[in-house]
Formats: sequence, structure tokens, C-alpha cells
Amino acid sequence: MVRRGAITLALLLAAGWGMAQQKKAAGARDLLAGIPSGRTRVVDLSYAINDKLVPWPGDTRWFEAKDNATVEKNGYFTRSFWMLEHYGTHMDAPIHFPPGKTPVDKIPVEHLFGPAVVIDVRAEAAKDADYRLTVERVERWEKVHGQIPPDAIVLLRTGWASRWPDVKRYRNQDAAGVMHSPGFSVEAVRVLLERKVIGLGIDTMSADPGSSKDFPVHTLALGSGVYHLENLADLSALPEAGAFLMVAPIKLEGGSGGPCRVFAILPNE
Ligand SMILES: [Zn+2]
Repeated sequence: MVRRGAITLALLLAAGWGMAQQKKAAGARDLLAGIPSGRTRVVDLSYAINDKLVPWPGDTRWFEAKDNATVEKNGYFTRSFWMLEHYGTHMDAPIHFPPGKTPVDKIPVEHLFGPAVVIDVRAEAAKDADYRLTVERVERWEKVHGQIPPDAIVLLRTGWASRWPDVKRYRNQDAAGVMHSPGFSVEAVRVLLERKVIGLGIDTMSADPGSSKDFPVHTLALGSGVYHLENLADLSALPEAGAFLMVAPIKLEGGSGGPCRVFAILPNE
């Protein structure tokens, strides 16, 4: 009886797991199918690139575009452009910080798609520009929405996008030149790595808080093969759970990262 009970339990669990997987697949499929009709909303989380965005302090040159062919001269229009890999909305590939190894073109394509876990810390960041995501805040998200699923991309919604592209307010530097913006903490990222997330994203310039000198989150997350999305555009349209992300970085061979298009798809309710 005991054994039969155990087998029944195992079967029930397996059926439940299978149904959950099916539901998840159907959810993503339904979301994609709903795009043309407008049942599904697509939110573009990337900023348009020009020479007036917020560069990292110390960078003296960040973006240039020049006409290559003009309609007047050539009958068609093309440009050439030059830019930093880490400018505007961009991906940090693991190779950006040792011991990370993978360049942007070698990130497995399966890791560019995943459910978005949105942790809203706008209230905390409004009170404290140096706010770091706590383990307690991650656990609070999980109490409401369940455990963070493997292959999730965790977005920290700090509200900093409302300062973009005002260089002064976005960098928020003090008299000594130290930036103050919220970020992830090493302790919280350890928990996220245990959950097997594939990416971290933030609406500030850096996954580490702006005041960080040694970038421990970069070392830990990129070193563990998890990429970062930085300078994400306004995240306010996203639910805390239920959106799906499509991440499309430039396929630059050997790149430390690069400009990235990020789309969130979510039910249009
Ligand atoms: Zn970066």
C-alpha cells in the first residue's frame, strides 16, 4: 500500500509537472500568436541610439554616425557608425568581467528568451539612491508569485528610467564624482543564481550600484555565465510576473557586449 501510494503520488506529481510545462509552452505560444491581432502587447525596452545618451564617466567618445551614401549623390541612403559596446541599452556578455568567458556572439540563443521576473524597488530607490536589492525583497516576490523559475530573466525596476537621458540626474554624481544609483547586491544575486536565472536586467547604467568601485555583482553574475542588460528603458508597463522577454544583442564576434534590442511580450489587458 505504501509503495502504491508512493507511485500514485509520483504519477500525480509528474502529471502536475507535465501540465505546468504544457501550460507554460501554451502561454508563450498564445502570447506570440496574439501579437498581430493586438491581443498581445509588445513593449520595446530599448532606447534609440544617438550621440546624446548617457555615457559611462570617463568615456570621451561614444557614438558617431556619418552619411556614407546620400540620395542626392548616390540615389540611395546609407550611413556608417561607430560606437562603444557599452552605450545605451546594451548587454554585458560574461567575458566583460573575469572569470566570465563567453563573448556576446557565443551566448546560447536559448538564453535570449525567458520569463521576466520584475522586482519593483521604485519606492526603496526613491528614498535611497544607493539601494541594493535584498534577499528579503527577492523572497517577498516569491511569496506572491511562487519560486523564481529556472531560465528567468530578472529585471530590477528602480524607476531610474524617468531620469533618462539627463546625464546629471541619471549618473547622480556627488562632489567627489561618485555615482549614486540603485543596483543588485551580491547576496541577492547568489539566491538568483541558485534559482538558475539566465540574465539580470536593470533600468540604470550598471547592475552594481553606481557607487561600486569593484563591481562584485559583475564578477559574480558574469563569472557564472549570466549576462546583464543595462540602461533598459521604462519598465513600468511590465507586470511583476507574466511577461516574456526576447533579447536580441548585436552578434559581434568576440564582443564584450553590445547594443541590444529587448522586447517584452505580455497579455494586453
Ligand atoms: Zn555594460
